Amino acid sequence: MASPPQHAPMDGFPIQNQQLLVGGIPLAQLAQRVGHTPFYVYDRRLLTRRVADLRAAMPPDLKIHYAMKANPMPAVVQHFAQLVDGFDLASAGEMKVALDTSMPAAHISMAGPGKRPAELLQAIAAGITLNVESFHELETIAQLSEQTGIKARVAVRINPAFELKASGMKMGGGAKPFGIDEERLPEALQRIKALDLAFQGFHIYSGSQNLKAEAIIEAQQKSLQLALQLSAHCPSPIRTLNIGGGYGIPYFPGEDRLDIQQIGAELAIAMAHFKASQPDTDIVIELGRYLVGEAGLYVTKVIDKKVSRGQIFLVVDGGLHHHLAASGNFGQVIRKNYPVAIATNMQGEAQETVNIVGPLCTPLDILADKMRLPTAQIGDLVVVYQSGAYGYTASPSQFLSQPKAEEILV
Ligand SMILES: *Cc1c(COP(=O)(O)O)cnc(C)c1O
Repeated sequence: MASPPQHAPMDGFPIQNQQLLVGGIPLAQLAQRVGHTPFYVYDRRLLTRRVADLRAAMPPDLKIHYAMKANPMPAVVQHFAQLVDGFDLASAGEMKVALDTSMPAAHISMAGPGKRPAELLQAIAAGITLNVESFHELETIAQLSEQTGIKARVAVRINPAFELKASGMKMGGGAKPFGIDEERLPEALQRIKALDLAFQGFHIYSGSQNLKAEAIIEAQQKSLQLALQLSAHCPSPIRTLNIGGGYGIPYFPGEDRLDIQQIGAELAIAMAHFKASQPDTDIVIELGRYLVGEAGLYVTKVIDKKVSRGQIFLVVDGGLHHHLAASGNFGQVIRKNYPVAIATNMQGEAQETVNIVGPLCTPLDILADKMRLPTAQIGDLVVVYQSGAYGYTASPSQFLSQPKAEEILV
């Protein structure tokens, strides 16, 4: 019989005396330091290593931006300010966190539909680049620019005709609320020329959580090609071309890590072709999840252990209110388990099949469904891996008025 699909190996955090070490600290001691569970912990060494590995695989002249919505914790963003070439953000709240770092405003861009005039004004005053999502937004930016006397820096977000295949979430191709349809780009560029705006270039973001190198390669090639086609219509040379990202990480059994060597090699060829006619363009990828997702753990404690009609339930003190994605309620169609471990009994010989559930009075509050794990007792710590991105800020933390989770960077 074929063995069932396994989670990709979770080897970022070492094990010592049966216990997970995070930032070199045994997790139980770290929990004492925090003062309570549940909490999120992010490991700065893993963030640094991830960016270094990515740079080694990508073409040397590619710019790497951090997409803040994946994890906007200020300490994490401060750390990334030393590692990456720019930030991409999607609200004035994120902009505040970004501008508190050493990252120059010229290397920050703001995307997202429905930017309010007040937010646009803040962004113009800050000198960051606005990725324009519609004709109406373009006119609003031009008015604000004229009123303030500050020339707004604008790039056009393109909704391309192509899709990023095999993506967890598609954000380009077809009818979308994001960007301006490719067919209408000449018109948009004509309008930018007529208005007195500082044209920066293009932004093409096709999708998220992709584990297929071929699909990413194809989307990157098509993005570069599209920008080349449009270059003749531009009011000035393309200074920045943001070709998106969508690099995924393995969450579920049977998923493997993305082959970034292959992506890097193909991107180098496509970029060389592009730069032959557009040598002064900065080509950018923007990544959130890929940079931060594997560096984070969600840490909970076993509060109760009970048996119901033959099944073991570990009841922990955290759940979907802090980590909606791990509960399976953030974009999953069929619920699958995130990688989970008993962090205070990592290599225990005795194992049992358990359901790990949170304290919320709803059957949706599940962290593990019938997983085979080393035996756990009340007081043991349970961690959810792959929790650095779209964790706490993507969860309904008010639901059932439970205590908040702490977030720490070690
Ligand atoms: C969400 C988003 C990102 C980040 O996506 P990841 O899958 O976390 O890398 C980047 N750019 C834009 C425009 C986004 O909306």
